[in-house]
Amino acid sequence: MKPLIRRLPGFLVKFFARPYVAGDSLESGLDVAADLLRQRGVHTTLDLLYEGVDDDEALREVRDVYREMIREVATRFEGAGRPTVSLKPSSYTKRPLDRFPGEPEGSFEAIREFAQLARERDVDLTIDMEDRHWTTWTLDAARRLRDEGHDHVGVVLQTRLERTAADIDALPEGMRVRLVIGIYNEPQDVATTDKSVMKERMLEYAAKLLERGHYVEFATHDMRIIRRFLEDVVPATKVEAGTYEVQMLYGVPMQAFQNELTSGAIGHHGPVRVRLYVPFATSWEYAIAYCRRRLLENPSMATAVARNVGRVLTGRR
Ligand SMILES: Cc1cc2nc3c(=O)[nH]c(=O)nc-3n(C[C@H](O)[C@H](O)[C@H](O)COP(=O)(O)OP(=O)(O)OC[C@H]3O[C@@H](n4cnc5c(N)ncnc54)[C@H](O)[C@@H]3O)c2cc1C
Repeated sequence: MKPLIRRLPGFLVKFFARPYVAGDSLESGLDVAADLLRQRGVHTTLDLLYEGVDDDEALREVRDVYREMIREVATRFEGAGRPTVSLKPSSYTKRPLDRFPGEPEGSFEAIREFAQLARERDVDLTIDMEDRHWTTWTLDAARRLRDEGHDHVGVVLQTRLERTAADIDALPEGMRVRLVIGIYNEPQDVATTDKSVMKERMLEYAAKLLERGHYVEFATHDMRIIRRFLEDVVPATKVEAGTYEVQMLYGVPMQAFQNELTSGAIGHHGPVRVRLYVPFATSWEYAIAYCRRRLLENPSMATAVARNVGRVLTGRR
């Protein structure tokens, strides 16, 4: 599968990526976010598709887009409907930790600047979790920001990693957490490769997080696990409504299920907040490179993507 993905022409990668990417401008991301909220009551988190920054000009460009994202989100949306902003630490350093172990130069300063701007504008930020080289650094960065009073910054935990149970115990009180299985293929000495274990841990860790008072963003497309989260885990922890939400990726064809969630047909607290992760790029060239890399890291995703394109083409959402 990998040689095939490597050789796939850009226009075909774009064809497969199209349902998952809002477009090639911040404007396209904001428009998708506004439509989802207005038409379906679905919330969003915006993400800039960019990685592998190699020169200062690209770095400046990326940082400018993040600043503009925060400002525009604050200007265009109000209150609970305001999208959150998702940030990838590797997108604002020339020294990513997977290639240059040590310190991802400039990354913390950038996050801190975005956190300050976001606090002034009342925008929530989430630091996406990248591969295992970033885990300690990212959690430390979030902790430092928290110590500086940035309690609008949330983190992501990956249940495939063996360290995650201990990471939960060390989280600052009340920090918002997106819980995922993790998209990166990690070696067996640090992670489980058994998907059913990752899924069971989603439930176990979600319970632990809720009991510790964290706001849980339960991010998966596995309907069976989402039902178990809402119908078993949430009631068992006796938390109130409004202490959790369900997140999915924009473009994964799950509208009917999302409508069940937002209408209150699943779970015991009435309507469940659904938030979609909406990526946009600043050009299709970046989006194509990004999507190709993700597919190479996780070729099994190609099957789901191909199936999804089939559904889009035949109008089955
Ligand atoms: C909102 C959100 C934010 C995320 N943030 C991060 C992050 O910061 N760090 C990180 O490592 N990972 C992140 N992920 C990815 C996550 O770790 C998983 O890799 C991804 O969600 C797939 O796993 P799953 O739990 O949906 O289960 P799966 O078992 O992989 O999928 C369940 C079902 O959904 C279908 N499906 C899944 N993905 C797709 C797709 N793209 N197209 C069509 N069908 C699909 C599958 O075919 C399957 O039927 C995020 C995921 C979401 C939803």
